[in-house]
Amino acid sequence: MSSILRIALEGAFTNFKRIFFAADRVTDMDMRNQIATLSVKVDDRVDEKACIGCAGCANVCPTGAVEMKELAKPVKITDDWVKSEVPEINLEKCVVCYYCHDFCPVFSLYGEKGTIHPSNVGDQEVDIESALEQPFKISDDKLKFIAQYLSDNTVLKNREEGD
Ligand code: SF4
Ligand code: SF4
Repeated sequence: MSSILRIALEGAFTNFKRIFFAADRVTDMDMRNQIATLSVKVDDRVDEKACIGCAGCANVCPTGAVEMKELAKPVKITDDWVKSEVPEINLEKCVVCYYCHDFCPVFSLYGEKGTIHPSNVGDQEVDIESALEQPFKISDDKLKFIAQYLSDNTVLKNREEGD
């Protein structure tokens, strides 16, 4: 089985468990109903306000479907970080594996709602500046694992080639 197909199937299965059995995160009822009735509204796929512009989603996307686009006006997030770009998903390349969503640090490190999603990012209420002041909610081992994917786009490629 090709790596991309396997990634897509893994993603689909993980999210099926998440949506209908709350396997690791709870999906709200409204979204579950929309999914169950095939009536998901086309909506924003990136929450540009909560996104910190780290480009991790672009690094981790196995098909190169996430492109970073420059902001007309950079936004200061913290004293050390200015957001200068935000992601955009090219649906023609997306295989709906959810890697972008699941590795996004706002979701994976800080436990907030993900700021990128291949079909609908949903309503967002993330106060990103407050969230970034909180300690990570995950173990050091998991942090290292996630960080390598977010920061280095060769990690996924090497994993695929090692299969
Ligand atoms: S779901 Fe995200 S990571 Fe996966 S292919 Fe689509 S854009 Fe890329
Ligand atoms: S990984 Fe998350 S925070 Fe980073 S650019 Fe992508 S959507 Fe924004």
